[in-house]
Formats: sequence, structure tokens, C-alpha cells
Amino acid sequence: MQFIETRGNDGQRAAEINFSDAILSPSASFGGLYVPKSLPALDRDFLQKHLKSHYKELAADFLESFGIDIDADIIAAALERYNGFDDPADPVPVVAVEEDCFVSELYHGQTRAFKDMALQPFGYILSRLAQQRGENYLIMAATSGDTGPATLETFKDQDNIKVACLYPDGGTSDVQRLQMVTEAASNLKVIGVKGNFDDTQSALKALLASQEFKDELASRDIKLSAANSVNFGRIIFQIIYHIHSYIELVRQEKIAMGDPIYLVVPSGNFGNALGGYYAKKAGLPIKKILIASNINNILTDLITKGEYDISHRELILTESPAMDILISSNVERVLFDKFGAARTRELMEQLATQKSYSLTDAELAALREDFDASFSNDSECESVIAAYAKAGYIMDPHTATCLRAYEELREEKLPTVIYSTAEWTKFSTTVARALGHECKDDLEALEWVSQNATVTIPKVVSDLFSKEIKHTTVVEKDAIKEEMLKFL
Ligand SMILES: *Cc1c(COP(=O)(O)O)cnc(C)c1O
Repeated sequence: MQFIETRGNDGQRAAEINFSDAILSPSASFGGLYVPKSLPALDRDFLQKHLKSHYKELAADFLESFGIDIDADIIAAALERYNGFDDPADPVPVVAVEEDCFVSELYHGQTRAFKDMALQPFGYILSRLAQQRGENYLIMAATSGDTGPATLETFKDQDNIKVACLYPDGGTSDVQRLQMVTEAASNLKVIGVKGNFDDTQSALKALLASQEFKDELASRDIKLSAANSVNFGRIIFQIIYHIHSYIELVRQEKIAMGDPIYLVVPSGNFGNALGGYYAKKAGLPIKKILIASNINNILTDLITKGEYDISHRELILTESPAMDILISSNVERVLFDKFGAARTRELMEQLATQKSYSLTDAELAALREDFDASFSNDSECESVIAAYAKAGYIMDPHTATCLRAYEELREEKLPTVIYSTAEWTKFSTTVARALGHECKDDLEALEWVSQNATVTIPKVVSDLFSKEIKHTTVVEKDAIKEEMLKFL
């Protein structure tokens, strides 16, 4: 399988590249992204064949049919990382919360958010490639709280890889911060930045653009890669759990093989939703992918009106911070798939220069064949959390945004999978508030919720509070470069 670029080729890069090159150097011509030239077929035979498969067998077969240039033994070892999930026999449980609504729980991994689904195996593969080639890579991440811990966890103690993670000081939950600052491996650096997530992200961009920093990396023979979802190495693993969730409904006899279902995806950078889109396109019987957002509802505007306009918008901080995003990178891959490279480049340039773009009516109709969208505000999410808690199911605020889409957007009453992207423990003060109790910090909220609802605190979370703090650096934006040079 070869990979091509969403904004066309600049004549300097190769016109088509392998998977391994696309994941080691994910930046494409004109600021575009790499996408596969075609997709393997997810036909009935494939699904039928995996009715009894373990998640890892399904994943291995899917990756093989994708034809990526990674040795089968490396893929197998990467998938072994799912053994670190709560139940190695069933890393992604799918549970009913309504007669026709099922929660696919993607958060049972090492850092309690769905980022582990892709970052765990992806991190292994990237590290092995770097070692095989004898190259050294630096991965830099700016995080609002979930990507950071998952990136550190997957690359810890991996030779040939260094990770630097920037987080907004005071902008994450206690659990998220502790997950980062207690990581002990010597190839990891964690820096708190004074400011919000936007400041952190722009500080990272400025650093990556600085010639002094580039020269410094070159002089040490260090290449830059990326572990966010612009890297297709993450997206490929985010197709698999959509297939798994479908098969799981067949297994549980909630649907017959071939029956259509809806997916509801709480979306930010659109990687999760893109995985669902590719699964649908490859043949998985999905009626539509319903996109759930918080009040930063740029995706709702795009999918319901064909407008992507951030010129009058300011990012609003919400209780679902992983979805507090105005530039949703992976939308570009859908635009490319539907409208081609020339149009994608045009739209992305309009977004960069005019801070907005509009689809034609025909383009909007094409988008709406696969997607619909809605959003919820914080108080709606808290009501959802409270209502389901009464029925014995605790969900996090990101997952809660899905329920409105489930209730309002389905044109037919088909069975629906909603994705739970984080465990309640990462957002425990919000969950406690939804259940009627204000807590001063995570420790109090974790205890209060576990005493007043039907959940327990997993050991990986409770242990965080007694682990040694390894990273204490908190700096102003302009001191990041100096910290990075010290680390390198
Ligand atoms: C990252 C994240 C999201 C958004 O996922 P995208 O693939 O970026 O759309 C949603 N919920 C949680 C908890 C996350 O960590």
C-alpha cells in the first residue's frame, strides 16, 4: 500500500511513499497529510471470518490486508501491547446502555483514554523502525491532557526515541498532570507551560519553526516526527475498533451480519471519526457517522451548513477539554477523499488566509451522505452523566456529548454504537459535580464518586498520588527552547 498527499505533490517529495516513511516523516507537500491510495475491502467474508477472533487477531489480519511495509513479527509484538489493558481477553468492551444504544469503551488502556488504542501499538512500531534504521527521533507533543500521557507511556524507555511533552500548567486535571510528571524514563521530558492549551500549542509551533532549534537538532543528528493524529500511523489503528464494535454487536446478537448501524463519535481533531469513515468506505455496514461536539461546534457548522468559519470564533474552555479545538486537522483527509487534492488545497489555503471556507451545496450533500453532527453544552453533558449514573452507568463528559446525537440525529431507529473516549477518573471533578457534589480536587472527587456511584478507582490511577514527581519544570513560553536544548 502506497501513501499520497492531500494537497498534491510539490515535485520535491516522492509522489508516493511507503507506510514506514509516512509515519516517520508525516509532513507532506504544501502542509498536507498522507493518506492511503486505497483501502482493503471489509466485506462480509472478512467480518464473518472474525466473529470468533480476539481483538489482536482481527487487528493483525486487517493490517495484513492493508499491505503496509512493516514485518509481521513487529506488528504482532506491537499488538501485544493490548495485553496491558484491563482485560487482555477483551480490551474493548461494548456494553448496552439502552436497548439500541451501546457504549464501546475505548479507555481501558494504560492512561485511561482512547489515545492508548492507537498510540500503544503505533509507538512500538515507530520505535522499532527508528532502531532498524539507526536513526534518532524527537517526538514533540502539546497536550490538553490525554495525548501527553499516552505518548509518554508508549515511548518510555524506547531506544532511538526522545519525547518532549508540553502541557498547560493548571489546564489539565490532577490525574492527567500526575500521569505526565511521574513518568520516570530518562528519554522523556515534561514541561509545564504558563498559559492555556492554545499558548502551549503556539509555543510548540514557534519552537518547531525556529531555525536555531532546527540547526540544533541537525547538529545532533536528530529527526523530528509526530505522534498526533496527523500521523497516519495512529489513524490505521483507529479503523480497527470500529470493525471490532460492529462484530461485537453481531456476537451479542444485537444485530445480524450486514445490518446497518450508526456510530456516534465525540470529536476534536477528527481522528476517531476518520477511522469510522474509512471503515464505512471499506465496506463496514455503517449508516452514518454522527459527530458529537461541545460548544466549540465548528464541526457541527461544517457538517450541517457547509461552513467552516473560525474568523469570529474564540476557543471556549469546556468540561470536555479534549474537544476544545477549532482547527480539526483530520477533516482534511475526508475533504481529499471526496473532492480531490486541488480542491482540498484550495479550501485549506482559504482557511489559513481568510480563516474560513464554504462548501458548495453539492459538496455539503456529499459530506452528509456519511456524516451528521450536533453538539452539547456543559450543563447538558452534566445532565446526561447524572441520568445514566442513576441507571448505574458512569461516563465521562466527552462520552456524554454523544447522547444528544443519538437521540436527535438518527433518521431511522437503528442500533447505535457510541464511543467512550475517556474513563471518568480523568475528569472526576466534573463527574462529581454532575452528581451534585463540588470537590476541591481530583483526590476528593475520585473518592466521593467511588463511594457514591457504582465504580471503583483503578490502581493505576490511585497509585499516581503516591508516585514520585520526576518533572517539576514549569516555565514561561519563551523559556521552552532553553529547556529543550538542555534536554537534548
Ligand atoms: C482526543 C480525545 C477526543 C477527540 O478525538 P479526535 O480523534 O481528536 O476527534 C475525544 N475525547 C477524548 C477523551 C480524547 O482524549
